[in-house]
Amino acid sequence: MTVYIFTVFYMLLSACIIYPPIEFVSAGITVKDIFSSWLGSENEFFIQYHIKRSIATLFVHSVLPFGYLLGLVLFGNIETARIFLGSDNPLWPTLAVCSLIGPIYAVYKVLCWSRNNWATHPIAESLAVYCNNNTRWISVASDINIEYRRIDKIVIDTNSVTRIVATDNWIIKISPYKLYVAHQSDTALIVNKSDTHVMSPTTRGEVQFVNIEVKPTRIGAQSFTIRLNALDFKDLQDKVSRPITVLENVTFHRTVLDRFIDTFKEEVAKNPYYETAQELEQCIGCMQTTSNVKLNRLCENVSEAVGPDACVACYCRPMWCIECIAKWFASRQNENATETWLSSKCTCPVCRAKFCLLDVCLVRTLSQ
Ligand SMILES: [Zn+2]
Ligand SMILES: [Zn+2]
Ligand SMILES: [Zn+2]
Repeated sequence: MTVYIFTVFYMLLSACIIYPPIEFVSAGITVKDIFSSWLGSENEFFIQYHIKRSIATLFVHSVLPFGYLLGLVLFGNIETARIFLGSDNPLWPTLAVCSLIGPIYAVYKVLCWSRNNWATHPIAESLAVYCNNNTRWISVASDINIEYRRIDKIVIDTNSVTRIVATDNWIIKISPYKLYVAHQSDTALIVNKSDTHVMSPTTRGEVQFVNIEVKPTRIGAQSFTIRLNALDFKDLQDKVSRPITVLENVTFHRTVLDRFIDTFKEEVAKNPYYETAQELEQCIGCMQTTSNVKLNRLCENVSEAVGPDACVACYCRPMWCIECIAKWFASRQNENATETWLSSKCTCPVCRAKFCLLDVCLVRTLSQ
C-alpha cells in the first residue's frame, strides 16, 4: 500500500518540480533557487546564467525516474517493490536500467556542449544566428548581458517557468531549456489571438491573455510565441521600438480603464433609453462624436434617498458621449479598488449632481 502512496506523492512532487506552483516558488524550491550559488548572477551574466540553468533543469528532470526507483527501495522495502512490480519479473531490472538512461544521456549531452566553449549549446546556437562576420556567439551574449544589466529593461513573468524580457534591442523568451531571442530591428510582432477567462463569476473578475507571434526575419532565427496577460501588453509595447500589429479580428483590453469602459457600456445598455426631441450636439469631452448620454435619476435607493450619498437629479442636457462619461466615472474612483468601481457613485461633470450607474441613460432622439 505504501508503494501506491509513495507513487502518488512522487508524481505530485515531480509535477511541482517541472511546473512549480506559487507555493514552491515562494518557498524557494525551484531549480534556480536550489542551484543559485552555482548559477551565479543573472543580472551580471544573463546568458551564461541561463546556459547553466538550462543544464541544471535538464539534469534535475532527467533524474526524476531514477529518484522514483531509489525512493521505492529506500522508503518502501524492496519486497513490496517486488510485489508491486511483480516478483522475478524482468521489469524490475529493465526499469532500473531505463531510469539511468535519462541521466546518462543528460551527462553525455552536457559534455558535448561543453566542448568548444559551449558553442553547440542550443542557447549559444540561437545567438550565433545574430553574429556578424568574424564574431562569435559570445560577443552577442555580452551585448545582451550589457543590455540586461540596464534598469529600464522589462521582465514579465508569464508563468512559473517562462518569462519575457525586453531590453533596448532584444526580445527574449526564457523557457526551461531554451532562450528564444529576437533582435527588435528585424522582427515582426503580431498579436494573433486573445482569450478571456473568468476568474470568479461573482466578482466579474476576468483575465485576458494575448498571443503575440514574434517573427525574426533573420535567416536561421526561430520564431516564437509570447503569451501574456493583456494588461502587460502596454508595458511590452512601450519597450519595443517596432509597432506591434494587432490582427483585425483580435480585440482585447490593454488597460484596466479599457476593460472598465467596456463593462460600463454593457451595464448602461441595460438601462432604459432617455428620449428627447432635442437636437444633440457634439460631446464636450472629446469633440469627436455626437453626445449620446443623459444622466437621468432612475435608481430608487430608498434608504439613502435623503442621505449625503443619495443620487440627485441632473438637469443638464445631453452633453457627453458614453466613452467620455465612462472615463470621467473611472477617473473619480479609487484607483486601488477597481472591483468597487461599478457599484460606486460619481458626480455630473457640470452640475455636480451625484449619480450611479443606473442613472446613466443612452439618448434616443424622437423624430418629429
Ligand atoms: Zn466624448
Ligand atoms: Zn448635470
Ligand atoms: Zn443613482
